[in-house]
Amino acid sequence: MNHLARLRRLQRDLPENKLDLLLVTHLPNVRYVSGFTGSAAALLVGERGTTLFTDGRYIAQAKEEVKGAKVVIASKSPSIAAAEWLAAQRKKSGTLWLGIEAESLSVGLRDRLASGLRGKARLRSAPPLVERARMVKDADEIRRIRHAVTLGASLFRVACETIKPGVREVEVAAAMEYEARRQGAEGMSFGTILAAGARSAVVHGRASSARIPRRGFVVCDFGVILAGYCSDRTRTVHVGKPTREARQMYEAVLEAQQSAIAAVRPGVTAAEVDEAARSALRKRRLAEYFTHSTGHGLGLEIHEAPRLAAGQAQKLEPGMVITVEPGAYIPGRWGVRIEDVMVVTPSGCDVLAPEDKELVVI
Ligand code: ZN
Ligand code: ZN
Repeated sequence: MNHLARLRRLQRDLPENKLDLLLVTHLPNVRYVSGFTGSAAALLVGERGTTLFTDGRYIAQAKEEVKGAKVVIASKSPSIAAAEWLAAQRKKSGTLWLGIEAESLSVGLRDRLASGLRGKARLRSAPPLVERARMVKDADEIRRIRHAVTLGASLFRVACETIKPGVREVEVAAAMEYEARRQGAEGMSFGTILAAGARSAVVHGRASSARIPRRGFVVCDFGVILAGYCSDRTRTVHVGKPTREARQMYEAVLEAQQSAIAAVRPGVTAAEVDEAARSALRKRRLAEYFTHSTGHGLGLEIHEAPRLAAGQAQKLEPGMVITVEPGAYIPGRWGVRIEDVMVVTPSGCDVLAPEDKELVVI
């Protein structure tokens, strides 16, 4: 990971955005820019120098992980320590503008930051500078995501072996999560979704104590974190012999996913990919049952920019890593979703672990 290049890019972004400094407080952003993986940190980025503030638990770790920034061990909240440090450093000479990441800063902390600065600098909400940089992944990140997706994909086999009528959804999730840890995952990238029977119509049906019925769809949406990077995948299986209608529903969602994937290439907007999935479902009169957006970026976080939804003008670029995950959900009855992760390439996209998409009947 070339953290120094990331830091330099951010430093170059400051004057263009009329900022003297930026206080990075969103932890995945701190990690992206400095390499620091601890759970308490604030990174004060200035054109001339950068300082990472953390607490006493991380003395050794910060020394080992952080490159290109000075480390200050604080005995209070790292961002407050940063504000007070800044107030002590600077002589007042004109207005000093300190950018903050407003999307991830509480109102309370903002107030405490302002008073910690003792009038030596003024706060301004910064544009999402780090998030923008994070949208396009470098080769190292793509390699890590590829490994995470490969590990994540292997859990579907465990799901298929465990799903049976009468088994509780949480038992299936437990088997998958155990296997993930056994293979080296740091954790799951979100609470495993396992929704069987009528619950498959619940878009975010976290695995519950409900038992898998004798017949119906089971939506499995799961992901792992490996070397800091997330995977995300959905497969829908059918327990018992599917009716013709169930098969048609599955085929319609698969077709929608394939047409959205076919639309992914540089220069296309996120909204156009979303529309490709939606129009395929419209032809099957299922568009009204597709109640969420088509996909999202992923990387250090499970949901990152860009968002693949109506109205999103963000153009896709090579190196972006996104999901495509259309679904259709008939309330009280059933639901189907199919999701893959792909890397945008100069000529289209590379779907990672594209297998297991024919309807599995258990
Ligand atoms: Zn997803
Ligand atoms: Zn998912």
